Amino acid sequence: SLTIGIVGLPNVGKSTLFNALTKNDVLAANYPFATIEPNVGVVGVPDPRLAKLAEVFGSARVLPATVDFVDIAGIVRGASEGEGLGNKFLANIRESDAICQVIRAFKDENVVHVDGKVSPKDDIETINTELILADLQTIEKVLPRLTKEARLQKEKVAVLAAVESAQAILSAGDTLFSHGITKGTDQGVLLHDLHLLTTKPFLYVFNVDEDELVDEDFKNEQRALVAPAEAIFLNAKLEQDLAELDDDEALELLQSVGQDEPGLATLARVGFETLGLQTYLTAGPKEARAWTIKRGATAPEAAGVIHTDFQRGFIKAEVISFADLVSAGSVPEARARGKARMEGKEYVMQDGDVVEFRFNV
Ligand code: GDP
Repeated sequence: SLTIGIVGLPNVGKSTLFNALTKNDVLAANYPFATIEPNVGVVGVPDPRLAKLAEVFGSARVLPATVDFVDIAGIVRGASEGEGLGNKFLANIRESDAICQVIRAFKDENVVHVDGKVSPKDDIETINTELILADLQTIEKVLPRLTKEARLQKEKVAVLAAVESAQAILSAGDTLFSHGITKGTDQGVLLHDLHLLTTKPFLYVFNVDEDELVDEDFKNEQRALVAPAEAIFLNAKLEQDLAELDDDEALELLQSVGQDEPGLATLARVGFETLGLQTYLTAGPKEARAWTIKRGATAPEAAGVIHTDFQRGFIKAEVISFADLVSAGSVPEARARGKARMEGKEYVMQDGDVVEFRFNV
């Protein structure tokens, strides 16, 4: 499955946040015997539709979609120079599908800042600089060969042009992501073989003081720093406390600081979107469940997420939209109202589709 790597300078609250994440680990809750790597937190993507479906179908349990977060320790200035930890750090980032930077905004004299002062802007620059330098090195390594190849092979001309334009962006101190160059884009495809770090989607978690959680001016300033990436504001210590409370107590604590959902829930949802994922829903007496697919996946591809046999033997999918199903109150009633559609192999899955697959075994 796709993973989001969590990075950040020392003492910004990564471990605190990660502890909160692993306390929310849905794998641990639903599959007590699953083996979980110590640096991976599997977090449920909150979806209120599942509880509704469970009501309609009398489902015994609810299984949300999940996002995997990987704790990538050890960014230091000079990581791109590839010394010891730096090398491992970059390799770990290369394996992640998105990069989540944790940025310190909270003020606390008892917690030392590695650079002596709290400055989100400087911290973001420090981290981005290491990633940008690593990408520049990758480019410098391949350029001589690529230049030669482009003289002989026509199809390498476009690759060379893409690499040179990436080099110009990086040399100016920008990430490729901030220029809209990611895996799926034309430029991204040409750059694919270089596995550049800054073509991964970025998201930013600002670890803020409680009063900043509701300070819209402050939040807008930070958002401007990281756009087009998403910014999430949370207090890591508060998240850790929330993870230890039951739902009612947690809601009370949240409301006391002007929030309506935990920062981790927001993080899971935004992370899921940043990875380019979406869900479809299934339900029955055993469970109501959200399944993860890539945005734009077809019905057979969606079936394949449940079982490869479902994809191979796919005949059709009976699809009812969540809203239609809930207002009908049951599948037979939705069918009677003409709200159940039979979709074939070409159908592109839509958000909120409740699905039952028909297949040959
Ligand atoms: P890491 O080095 O990025 O993993 O940071 P830690 O999670 O170990 O946090 C460093 C220190 O900052 C610890 O003493 C935490 O208790 C403290 N800390 C983390 N989050 C917050 C926060 O939101 N507010 C305050 N005041 N302290 C925090």
